[in-house]
Parts: sequence; structure tokens; C-alpha cells
Amino acid sequence: MEVPPGENEKSSDDAPFVFQCAGCKTILGDTTAWVCTNETLKTITLHSVSKQVKVKNDLFTCTSPSTVDFGSSYNDLMCCGCDTTIGKLYHTTNQKLDSVRGHFSLLLHKLISYQIGSCTQTMRTSDIYEHMTLPSSFMQEMRVHMKKVQAIIVSINSRLSSVEKCLNDDDDQRDHT
Ligand SMILES: [Zn+2]
Repeated sequence: MEVPPGENEKSSDDAPFVFQCAGCKTILGDTTAWVCTNETLKTITLHSVSKQVKVKNDLFTCTSPSTVDFGSSYNDLMCCGCDTTIGKLYHTTNQKLDSVRGHFSLLLHKLISYQIGSCTQTMRTSDIYEHMTLPSSFMQEMRVHMKKVQAIIVSINSRLSSVEKCLNDDDDQRDHT
């Protein structure tokens, strides 16, 4: 049965859902344009959709008395990304489908959804270093640089030692005079 707008409307605290084509992931619409869901038709109805939803030209009439949309006229809706039929735009309906008339009804099984802000994967700084691999040429270059720096330090150290030794000798001589 049709669920009237308001009853299953998302609360204003909830972040909006984005609806994508299940076949090609093209974004088709989101819950900011929510009208209603219909459990019998297995559709969600939005008052506006993305430009990736194409309204096909041919107008059809539902002729099967067993369906809830019997007697309704509609255009098929198509995903521009993969040319799949993804729902219907009803022009005339019986009373039961008052709220879907003139809106875009998308078939639930043709959709995937994503809620804004539902990402949970985060990175710690340590994880970033774990995922970081440096090219071996860079590492080789770093090793050569480190050896040069080491050689310079050794040479400075030995010069410093000899200067210190000289200074000590001077002090010793001054003490004896
Ligand atoms: Zn598609």
C-alpha cells in the first residue's frame, strides 16, 4: 500500500540519502526531493531528479487489472548512464496513487543509496607511513648522502680533537711558567 508523505518521511536530523543507478552508479536523485515510497509499486517518489534521468517520449497505459497502477498513464524513466529503465513518471493515476502523480517514481531494485556523512574509514598518522612506500632510487640516494655526511662529521671530529689537544698543551705550558 502507498505510504502517505509525512509518515515515513525522514526526520530533519537525518542526513540525506543519495540515490544512484545500481547498474552504472550514476547519481539520479536524493532525499531532499522526497515525496513518498510505495510498497506495492516498490518505488520511491521524488519531485525532482538529476539530469541523468531521461523521460522517454512514449506514453503507456497500464492495462493489467491486477496491478495497483491499473489504468494509469506514464512515461518510462531511463538512466542516461546505462540506458536502463529505472522507473515511471505517472501522468494520470487512480486515487490510490494520487501522491505519485506528476513525480518521478524510481524502482527500488534499480537503485543503490548512500547516506551523506556515513563514511567511517579514517587514517591514523602511523597508518599513513605504513602505506607510504618510497622509491628504491630515492632510498639509494639517501644512503649515499648519509655516508657523505658521516665522513664530514668524522673529519670535523678529528680536527676538533687536535685543536683541543693543542689548547690543552698550551694550558699545560702556561701552568708550568
Ligand atoms: Zn545507469
